[in-house]
Amino acid sequence: MRKIIILKYGELSTKKDNINFFISTLKENIKNSLKDLNANITYDKGRMFITSNDEYYESIISKLQTIFGLHEINSGYELKTNDLEEIKQSLISLIADREFTTFKVETKRSDKTIPMTSMEISRILGGVVLKNKDNVKVDVHNPEVTINVELRHNHSYIYFDKIAGLGGYPVGSLGKGLLMLSGGIDSPVAGYLALKRGVRIEALYFESPPHTSEAAKNKVKSLAQDLSKYSGYVKLHIVNFTKIQETILRQCPHEYLITIMRRMMYRIAERIAWKNNAKVLINGESIGQVASQTLTSMAAINEVVKMPVIRPVACLDKLDIIDLAKKIGTYETSILPYEDCCTIFVPKHPVINPISALCREYEELFDFESLIAEAVRTEEVIKIENKISEEFNNIL
Ligand code: ATP
Ligand code: MG
Repeated sequence: MRKIIILKYGELSTKKDNINFFISTLKENIKNSLKDLNANITYDKGRMFITSNDEYYESIISKLQTIFGLHEINSGYELKTNDLEEIKQSLISLIADREFTTFKVETKRSDKTIPMTSMEISRILGGVVLKNKDNVKVDVHNPEVTINVELRHNHSYIYFDKIAGLGGYPVGSLGKGLLMLSGGIDSPVAGYLALKRGVRIEALYFESPPHTSEAAKNKVKSLAQDLSKYSGYVKLHIVNFTKIQETILRQCPHEYLITIMRRMMYRIAERIAWKNNAKVLINGESIGQVASQTLTSMAAINEVVKMPVIRPVACLDKLDIIDLAKKIGTYETSILPYEDCCTIFVPKHPVINPISALCREYEELFDFESLIAEAVRTEEVIKIENKISEEFNNIL
């Protein structure tokens, strides 16, 4: 009998045609995530199995809980036989130092040549537990412990603990998107939700030095790092937006500042996405949250790009977004008080229903194409990896 982790795919197993691609992406992601933990990963009918040295199991389980595409993580034991007598003996030794008062046994039998039904095997093994453990009884509806037994050809598994995985699709299995990542609460959550759908993300941050500080930039790096926990790494593009912003401020009517600024952001984002083979833009816009996020505003801003724009939190309440941010671990960084380029030039009365024709007219007032080209050309790119966890937090 040896320790083993059994992984189930959940939603993934509904993908028929390209299941192999999904599974190989998942396997690759798991391999990368566990690369320092001496993990041996194998694959068998609809399951993945991981073995390693005893001292690594805890770390492996916590890493697996950050991987999309996993439905269930079971920590248990493997027997090199499916012989019922040997299973009984192993079960007796496994329950010896476990404390519980109610239990049930659930058996799965993928080897249909085994003469007994799953129900019969569960009943027999339930009897073994009752005989060998004092003061325990069966409760099929709400047991304290479920003893799972799986019988396969030539071997079997026993496991007690079921840990829920994150679900979703393996990161990268649905291509790549470019996340517009500000220092706020919404965009990291939007990034997380896109990752969960299997979209690998690169991130784009617009900075406006000296109006925005180094600390604001570090905050975004730190958020990218929080996201890299779920994807291994995040490539972060940092674009200097100062000249564009100052020009808009000088040239355009103030109620249109934000609308035009955001149209410029979208144009730059689309160009960086093209260059990096990202197929969609992703951002943290949420309907009605601010003047630039009314439906009319979104339409006036969106019209400058051809690429689809995914807004994972568009229909969520702010409180729900905050809950998610707390759950995924980005909230504490997001609420650190640093200025963003959107917040430094906020006009008193931003237009709520901008008119596209007026946006175009105001944009004629300056040569935005060359400013955009320069911003894209001078971008800074850094790869942020999961493992340097404390670095940015320390310099904030
Ligand atoms: P967040 O929406 O992330 O909480 P926020 O509310 O300050 O930040 P908004 O003004 O609501 O940002 O902007 C809407 C979206 O536009 C953001 O979610 C983000 O995707 C994008 N965005 C805003 N500012 C920036 C920036 N400086 N760099 C990159 N993307 C940005
Ligand atoms: Mg927002």
